[in-house]
Amino acid sequence: MNISEMIHKGMRCFDGGTGTMLMKLGLEIGGCPETAPADVMLSIHNAYIEAGAQYITTNTFGASRPKLAKYDLAEKTADINKRNTETARRAASGKNVFVAGDIGPTGEIIEPYGSFAMEQFIEVFTEQALALAEGGADLFIIETMASKEELAAAIEACKSAASIPVIACMTFDRAAQGGFKTMMGVTPEEAVSLMQSSHADVCGANCTLSPTDMVELAQQYRALTKLPILMQPNAGKPRISNGKTFYDPIQNIEKVLTDLIAAGVELAGGCCGTDPEYIRLLRKILDRSSREKLQ
Ligand SMILES: [Zn+2]
Repeated sequence: MNISEMIHKGMRCFDGGTGTMLMKLGLEIGGCPETAPADVMLSIHNAYIEAGAQYITTNTFGASRPKLAKYDLAEKTADINKRNTETARRAASGKNVFVAGDIGPTGEIIEPYGSFAMEQFIEVFTEQALALAEGGADLFIIETMASKEELAAAIEACKSAASIPVIACMTFDRAAQGGFKTMMGVTPEEAVSLMQSSHADVCGANCTLSPTDMVELAQQYRALTKLPILMQPNAGKPRISNGKTFYDPIQNIEKVLTDLIAAGVELAGGCCGTDPEYIRLLRKILDRSSREKLQ
């Protein structure tokens, strides 16, 4: 699979959030999302495919060994990654839909601030990437990264685990002094530069920002790279009430998403709080933009 060819064929729409959907379906708070039953995940994948997603994301965001160890599931790492990828494969089977093997942060911090050495990050991500590939992932998607070292380790591990495309995403918030920064202080310039030098196939950003704030980030990315760009905003600004997180609906969401794609974004999807209705609208806007480009 060549990601640029897929984009030219109009394959541009990712899926939306998994966590939000699991919570709607009653996943207990504090439980390990990656152990959600296969039939529940099948129904979530199918809802996104039915809404128009052309790429579905495996339920493996927190399935790295250090994260699973918090639930006493470290020894099941390979098994959980492989099985959850097989579930996504089953949902995609017979449809024109690709499976993106998802990798999120480990929760560990690089030395000397934390206790993890670069080799440990690479080892952890290699274990996960090999199991995702074995389960049948068509591509890798690395998400919500805040640290340059951790992102570099994840890209390197994916590149050596399988010859499939690698999408690299960091997560940014608005910085007090203007512009955007990750929690570890990485700027979009530094992020894109690292993604390119590590030979990622797509430069991306996900989570934290609302679609409105992500328009400006997308414009910055576009000025920095010729590689395809993926943007996956949250549904909006989160609001916590009674211990639960809500995302207030965005005013003029159709116009905001149209602006996001018009910033030069080839690929788009949704992160926290987004649902199949959001993906249905996003797919419509992506298809419209593809048609306009052909004219
Ligand atoms: Zn998110």
